[in-house]
Amino acid sequence: MTNNLLRFTDIGQSYPDKRDASSRKNDFSEIYEDYSNSSALEQASRCSQCGVPFCQIHCPLQNNIPDWLMMTAQGRLKEAYEISASTNNMPEICGRICPQDRLCEGNCVIENGFKSVTIGSVERYLTDNAFKNGWVSPVKPLTIRSQKICIIGAGPGGLAAAEELRKLGYEIDVYDRYDRIGGLLIYGIPNFKLEKSIVERRASLLKDSGINFYLNTEVGKDISFNQLREKYEAVLIATGVYEARDIALPGVGLPNIVPAMTYLTASNRVGLGDKVANFSNGQLDASGKDVVVLGGGDTAMDCVRTATRQGASSVKCVYRRDRTNMPGSLREVKHAEEEGVEFIWLTTPEAYLGQKKIEAIRAVKVRLGSSDSSGRQSPELIANSAHELKCDLAIKAFGFDPEDLKSSFNQPELKVTGWGTISIDFLSKMTSLDGVFAAGDIVRGASLVVWAIRDGRDAALQIHKYVQSKLD
Ligand code: FAD
Ligand code: SF4
Ligand code: SF4
Repeated sequence: MTNNLLRFTDIGQSYPDKRDASSRKNDFSEIYEDYSNSSALEQASRCSQCGVPFCQIHCPLQNNIPDWLMMTAQGRLKEAYEISASTNNMPEICGRICPQDRLCEGNCVIENGFKSVTIGSVERYLTDNAFKNGWVSPVKPLTIRSQKICIIGAGPGGLAAAEELRKLGYEIDVYDRYDRIGGLLIYGIPNFKLEKSIVERRASLLKDSGINFYLNTEVGKDISFNQLREKYEAVLIATGVYEARDIALPGVGLPNIVPAMTYLTASNRVGLGDKVANFSNGQLDASGKDVVVLGGGDTAMDCVRTATRQGASSVKCVYRRDRTNMPGSLREVKHAEEEGVEFIWLTTPEAYLGQKKIEAIRAVKVRLGSSDSSGRQSPELIANSAHELKCDLAIKAFGFDPEDLKSSFNQPELKVTGWGTISIDFLSKMTSLDGVFAAGDIVRGASLVVWAIRDGRDAALQIHKYVQSKLD
């Protein structure tokens, strides 16, 4: 057993082994191996137990990282898991897919010179190990309350809220238009970052805790929002953002030009064993194709790496800024480069070219000019730099906007921001409609799983306060 801490001076940073690019690009399995018990304990022992832990401050859930690292280092794995699970509804998922370099690990004070503690990998190990040992059990409420709460959206925001409210004893009904539980965890994020069995394990746990799920049910179409408001004490909207942004370019109607979510959902469905119409006819399958992904965010990274695994002949990522100015995680860019993806920086598409389907993209070079109001340098086109990129599958990853819920939910009084996200009161998390709350991407715009969990937890607490205030 490792009792010592502060071992960062004699133990180097070591992440779980990453599978070799030449083998991992042939399958959809996760790219990191699991920590062995001894490596997890050893890596946790590198923590210097800071009095003011910046790792914790920069974790959106304010996870009690120093405490669970200390317990891990001492081999007290059950207690470590319990502390970790007390602030996070999905620690094994965050441990896998949080951009730790920008959050907890990026702010670990031993970063300079000694490299950070591998917080995310230890967090993942703790919960995977707890599942293996049968320490993870469904929530059992101490009191059963008669009030019923409705949650729209079974993504991480909705699920975190559902679990927290179930703990408090409420009857919870979750509605989702998808046929599976998990939102983007299941149909957005590819298997090589987060295996579906990990999401399904969480979903089973929530079902076993007594939460009711109504899948294949689109609110606003299959059931009206007003019906839900009448039936439940409170409603939480956690519907995420799904409206794909687009750029109007000549040739956009040609076959084999697809939005990123259509492409990723199809790939995830095929991996789950579903039949996908446009996959079998080749429109959503990159196999044998020259693929060009347009965009530089994390969704674009997921697309290029999926295309590689589907057996594309070539995969290019075209982005109008440069490596240092791209929104996607640099860790993901590195993975993609290792897997053979070519990045074409400072380039923007001008037209899709082809007769019966896309055959090439005409692109132009850009330079970064003066900074705009956000401080980012604006791309400026370089004259006479047009060139063609061979392409028989173009994937558009320009980002997402919220759907117009005011109309689909038929709620003209629902206040939205200038970006179309739902406006909520900062403290009560309530929307402009009494008893209606909102959480996750639909409030923040496209964000992160860990923030959706945080929002779901905060909303659950406020819903509890609201429902109780009505009983007084
Ligand atoms: P979602 O996960 O989008 O869930 C919303 C749910 O609401 C969905 O299940 C949807 O079907 C349902 N819904 C919508 N409208 C209705 C309706 N009218 N009726 C019923 N149900 C409805 N974040 C990370 O932290 N790390 C990553 O590596 C990462 N990778 C990503 C990769 C991709 C391709 C994408 C698109 C996003 C990624 N994200 C990542 C972001 C992350 O997935 C989201 O921030 C997070 O899932 C938001 O959670 P949410 O619960 O708000 O919404
Ligand atoms: Fe780090 Fe994310 Fe875990 Fe917080 S939830 S400790 S940010 S990996
Ligand atoms: Fe440990 Fe780093 Fe957090 Fe300090 S900042 S408590 S060293 S993990």
